[in-house]
Amino acid sequence: MVSEKIRIDSNLLRSIDMYLESSLAKSKGFRNRRDVIEEAIRRFLENEGFWSTQRFKHINMYRDHVIIMDKLINRVVTVYFKPPNKTYCDACSTGDCEHVVYALTMSKVSKILKGKGFKIDNEQIENNLEEFMLKLSSRRIHT
Ligand SMILES: [Zn+2]
Repeated sequence: MVSEKIRIDSNLLRSIDMYLESSLAKSKGFRNRRDVIEEAIRRFLENEGFWSTQRFKHINMYRDHVIIMDKLINRVVTVYFKPPNKTYCDACSTGDCEHVVYALTMSKVSKILKGKGFKIDNEQIENNLEEFMLKLSSRRIHT
């Protein structure tokens, strides 16, 4: 990771140090100035619409496949569905990766698939689905 030294106002730094001494900071897992500064910047950028913690972005949906963007590997991924229960991801060449799980969690997709008689009977996908939903709901790092 590229990093750069930046000067920060001494009053701000003093407040950060005071905050770090508090039990509130400790309970949230903040240990040093960098923790606090990075979290503050992240929140600011998120508010301004310049930071997304979401790895996947739904791009388009077709009759038998879904196109999503994976920001982690920085590529467009296509997930195919073939009733009654076949799935396939072109990025991983498999039917039970996290892209498939993500595609299945998109409510619009699952509604359409159910309407076509698609069944999720792959145990691994079902387990992943649960894990994935859990991860989504506990996305924040310091809470
Ligand atoms: Zn995949």
